[in-house]
Amino acid sequence: MKILVSNDDGVYAPGIAALALEMSRLGEVLVVAPDRDRSGASNSLTLDRPLMPEKLENGFIRVNGTPTDCVLLAVAGAFDFLPDVVVSGVNRGANLGDDVIYSGTVAAALEGRTLGMPALAVSLDIRSSSVHYETAAQAARVLLESSAGLQLPPRTILNLNVPNRPWSELQGWRQTRLGHRGRADLPLRMEDPRGRECFWIAAVGPGDDAGPETDFAAVAEGYVSVTPLQVDMTRREAAPALQELLAGLPQP
Ligand code: MN
Repeated sequence: MKILVSNDDGVYAPGIAALALEMSRLGEVLVVAPDRDRSGASNSLTLDRPLMPEKLENGFIRVNGTPTDCVLLAVAGAFDFLPDVVVSGVNRGANLGDDVIYSGTVAAALEGRTLGMPALAVSLDIRSSSVHYETAAQAARVLLESSAGLQLPPRTILNLNVPNRPWSELQGWRQTRLGHRGRADLPLRMEDPRGRECFWIAAVGPGDDAGPETDFAAVAEGYVSVTPLQVDMTRREAAPALQELLAGLPQP
């Protein structure tokens, strides 16, 4: 099995090293990741300059672009390594509910959605100073190892969120749906040393829709949360009301 590993925290982040090490137990691994922290990059592409991949001493490839750029190049065959699966992470911080639309970690996995196997995004719910990236990496490895016969609809990715604790202290696995976050804190308004107004984007909001079947609840209770994701954001429940409105509009 050929496994492409990427992330959004950047090629030097400890989480990607832990993930690459664990994935190397399953097959041939290529690491292609942004040259710096691109958290929050979502599915963005770099279109205003060329991408210049560079191979580092440890064999990892860094790219002056986004997580999506990295996976796009690899899947297109830029590195003579055509992956069977993309595994993204281990992200520093959970990607729960609405986080997935901002997350570069999830985006990297999504870019691998057309490959033969379900892509994985792996995030660690970090709230303390001791950090168990190895637990999250192990969860990804165990899931991938056991998913050979897994039949999922095409273009499905799995979003894993892992509690920050030793493997032996996990409660187990739980399939979840995305919850929702409440509104984030307002951006912090500041002044730079030259007196100009500036802003820092503030912390994410708390779990709002965070009931028992959600990713929020699973991680809070110590379970590995596994959410199947797709790109289709069509809100089918809205169709009847919208159809009624459109039928009543003045017709051209
Ligand atoms: Mn990140």
